[in-house]
Amino acid sequence: CGITGYIGYRDAYPIVINGLKRLEYRGYDSAGIMMYDGDKIQLSKTKGKVSDLEVITKEEEERKKGNIGMGHTRWATHGVPNDVNSHPHYSQSGDLVIVHNGIIENYDTLRKELITRGYTFKSDTDTEVLVNFIEEVKKQEGCKLGQAVQLALKNVIGAYAIAVFDKSKPNEIIVARLGSPIAIGVGKENSEFFVASDASPFIEYTKDAIYLEDEEMAIIKLGKGIKVRKINDDSLVDANIQELQL
Ligand code: GLU
Repeated sequence: CGITGYIGYRDAYPIVINGLKRLEYRGYDSAGIMMYDGDKIQLSKTKGKVSDLEVITKEEEERKKGNIGMGHTRWATHGVPNDVNSHPHYSQSGDLVIVHNGIIENYDTLRKELITRGYTFKSDTDTEVLVNFIEEVKKQEGCKLGQAVQLALKNVIGAYAIAVFDKSKPNEIIVARLGSPIAIGVGKENSEFFVASDASPFIEYTKDAIYLEDEEMAIIKLGKGIKVRKINDDSLVDANIQELQL
C-alpha cells in the first residue's frame, strides 16, 4: 500500500501515477487518484493494478487535468477490495478528500456517532469514517482544516499515514503519520510540494525531503511552506530538511 501527492505548478497526473508505480513493491489490491483542476475534484479508482487505473484515465483524458493530485494503493483491511472501497474517499459535503494507509480501530463507534448526526457512507472502509469525522469536527469547531485533522486524530485509535485535501482551501495538503511512513518533498521557494510513502516518487524533482515521525502532522501550504507539529501536544516541531542521496 502507498500514498503519493503533488501540489504545485506541474501536471500532477504523471507525478502521482508514476509515483504509485514506484510504490507497487509495497503490495496492494486497488488503486485510485484524486485530481483537482482548480475547479472540480475528480476521483478515479479501481480494484486492480495502477495500469488498470491508467485504462480509465486514458478513456477520459479529463480525469488527468490539474496541478494538484493524490494517489493511493490499497491493501484492504475494512471492506473487500472493490471500486467503491478503493481510495481516495470523499467527505459527505464533497469538499474533503482523503487517502489513508493503516487502520482506524475505533471506526465503528465513530461511524455510529456520525450516522446519528446525519452522515451516510458509500463504502465499508474505516477511511471514509475518518474523512467524515474530520469534516464534522471542522463544522463543530468552526476551525481550519489543519486543526480539524489534529483534533480528529486525537480521538482516533489506530495507525495511519494520511493526506487530506479540502476544495475550499485548495492551496494546502495536510499529512499525518502514526505507524505508516510519510515523506514530503520540498520544491524551490515553496513553489511545489510532493508527498509519498517514501522518497522514490519525487527524487527526480527535489532532493530536499522531510520525513515525518510518528505522531507528527504537517500543514503544507503552496507558496508559504510547511508547518510540522505534534498531534497530541500541539507543539511545533523544527522541520528537519534532509538532503536525499542518489
Ligand atoms: N484501512 C483502509 C482500508 O481498508 C486502508 C488500508 C490500506 O492501508 O491501504 O481501506
